[in-house]
Amino acid sequence: MLNCDQYLMPETLEEALAQWAGAPEGSRLLAGGTDILPWAREGRAGHVHLPVIIDISRVKELRGYDVADGRVRLGANVVFQQFLTDDELRHHLPCMPHCSIWFADDQIREQATLAGNIVNASPAADGVPPVFAMNGTVEIARLEGGSIVRRSVSSRDFITGPGRTILEAGEIVTAVTCDSMAGYGGAFEKVGQRRSLVISVVCAVCLVKLSADDKTFADVRLSLGGISPVPVRLDAAEASLKGQPVSRESVLAAVKTAGDLVRSRTRREYRGEVVRGFIERAIEDALADYGVALSPPEMKEAALANT
Ligand SMILES: Cc1cc2nc3c(=O)[nH]c(=O)nc-3n(C[C@H](O)[C@H](O)[C@H](O)COP(=O)(O)OP(=O)(O)OC[C@H]3O[C@@H](n4cnc5c(N)ncnc54)[C@H](O)[C@@H]3O)c2cc1C
Repeated sequence: MLNCDQYLMPETLEEALAQWAGAPEGSRLLAGGTDILPWAREGRAGHVHLPVIIDISRVKELRGYDVADGRVRLGANVVFQQFLTDDELRHHLPCMPHCSIWFADDQIREQATLAGNIVNASPAADGVPPVFAMNGTVEIARLEGGSIVRRSVSSRDFITGPGRTILEAGEIVTAVTCDSMAGYGGAFEKVGQRRSLVISVVCAVCLVKLSADDKTFADVRLSLGGISPVPVRLDAAEASLKGQPVSRESVLAAVKTAGDLVRSRTRREYRGEVVRGFIERAIEDALADYGVALSPPEMKEAALANT
């Protein structure tokens, strides 16, 4: 069970930052609470008593999103359900509806923030690989001498290990900013222990854009979660596909570059096999989302022989 001496609900960022800076050690920020509440139960942290909980879900500056100069700025309180229901977000972030449909259930998605998912920094977090693939940056604020001071960090530098980030005392994540991927095809693949409400064992995200004649890969974004302490962007596989013809051979050649990425301590062989199949399927599904079909899987043997 989770309880606390004080439960604060600031309405402005300045108020939240002041409360957070002055909170006694052991206090916590809470956004949707979907990581914090299950953490305070038997079998995990058990009974937890915190001095102060600062619930930032009502902070105005953390709500909503903007699109400008090819980037989408998502306020820290944007929840996963919005990626399914908001047409503009679906247009600019075409992998996110695929990610969100696999994410928990309707009730959790209404509460769970993308920022909370990133700060929690689980190796299996579903929201992190898409943000890596979309060149995500994390915006952070703190109070200094009574003024709000801000900094931005690449999402790939923000997470430093399982449950670890570069956030310092008194800092709050205010937004996550990503490339607009409007016009790309998007896909998200996930495998877990069961079909529903499942935490990923491995997940993969892919975004593709083709040349004007649909014959070659113009841009490809690939990222994986669950295979290592921190999700990874597949830079080599992306580079190997750019400019290549849209064919099963090109895809299988790119998949080969990603097979030895698995760093997990458990089930490495299984994860390696899953990873290769996943990347191939993610690229194929992103192409299908773009409106282009790869050669049928029965021609895979022939394609493999050519790679
Ligand atoms: C039933 C269930 C199913 C789930 N399924 C999935 C799933 O399929 N995939 C998946 O990836 N996750 C899943 N989760 C985990 C969880 O929903 C996500 O990690 C969620 O996105 C966390 O966001 P939150 O707003 O609830 O964070 P909270 O629980 O409120 O906070 C999480 C952490 O982030 C910190 N924090 C939150 N916001 C900020 C901020 N703005 N600045 C600084 N620190 C902040 C908090 O202090 C805390 O340490 C599931 C959880 C449950 C209970």
